[in-house]
Amino acid sequence: MSDLEEESPMPAKRPRLDNEGEVQDQADSADTDGDGDALRASKELELGERLRNVMQCVVCLELPHPDESFQCAWGHILCEDCATRLMALAATTRRSAICPHCRTPISWAEITQNLVVGQMLWELPIECPDCEERMDYKSRENHMKNECRKRVVQCQFRSLGCTWERCHEDEAEHKDKCKYLNMSSDQILSALQAVDEREQFDTRSLHLCYKSLRAVRMVFEDLELRWPQTPATNSTEWKFHSSTIYVFENTWAVRSRMSMNTETEDNHCLSYSLKLLTTPHNTLLVKYFVTLPVLFARNKQLNDVLYDLKESEFNAAGDKSDFWQVAVSCPKAIYRLLAMPCIKLRIWMLLH
Ligand SMILES: [Zn+2]
Ligand SMILES: [Zn+2]
Ligand SMILES: [Zn+2]
Ligand SMILES: [Zn+2]
Repeated sequence: MSDLEEESPMPAKRPRLDNEGEVQDQADSADTDGDGDALRASKELELGERLRNVMQCVVCLELPHPDESFQCAWGHILCEDCATRLMALAATTRRSAICPHCRTPISWAEITQNLVVGQMLWELPIECPDCEERMDYKSRENHMKNECRKRVVQCQFRSLGCTWERCHEDEAEHKDKCKYLNMSSDQILSALQAVDEREQFDTRSLHLCYKSLRAVRMVFEDLELRWPQTPATNSTEWKFHSSTIYVFENTWAVRSRMSMNTETEDNHCLSYSLKLLTTPHNTLLVKYFVTLPVLFARNKQLNDVLYDLKESEFNAAGDKSDFWQVAVSCPKAIYRLLAMPCIKLRIWMLLH
């Protein structure tokens, strides 16, 4: 490829419609058979297939969710996850992300949603990934959750301790032979006791939260994690520029860094540490945690960062906490953070 070709975006080619010629031949020969209904059905199926090829994401080749399909300036379709991933990985190399098909730059400001594509995706017949039955997108969500014979279900006696979990179509067979079906009253009592204990354990974080709210003072500050100009020497760890904040009559620095796991992409982690820069009058016992400021987050991100309370004691200037990993709900959450136009976290600090 010459330099010119490398630099300038190529005009969008019409996505390839596989077997186009073949499809036409089949349609012609079927026509002469005069079998109208079968022909119409097969033509609809083919049209669905061909539209599917046009509207699939150019990276993962899956159909995007109708509300989450984006296009580059040349109209190439990207699903939200792939767009996010491209932007996140580009951010770590300090380059701008490009559409893998035509090489035009992509960012949240540059990619757009196409109303027509979105509408068509809602209408297009697609397969249930589990049972391969065909239906439109709207019915698929309900089908996968409540109707699919291949959906994973749990035993009706799960709260008593049965761990059986399998395809809905195998449920009837298990129902007849579940050992929890014929429990004695003693066994039921001890099972219920275990349920109680589990519930107590589950409400522990609620108690912790309640205890935290008894703090003397509570403050939050928004942090902007700024990428360094040059990559780290080994390129597997990034130290973001620290933000300085003034909280509880003292100055603090929040240092944060990103570790990239080169072996498995799903192990990238973002961590932060709190450092006191001034000397306080008394020891400060501080509890703290980070969240995503809702105002700057995309819809999908709202539950990405999990509540994870930390506690440290600060006595003198220079005291710092350990580096704590920002708790995220799934590996994709890290990509969504990195793909933000500017990574923002909100730190909550509670003084006890
Ligand atoms: Zn994709
Ligand atoms: Zn493109
Ligand atoms: Zn299904
Ligand atoms: Zn069971």
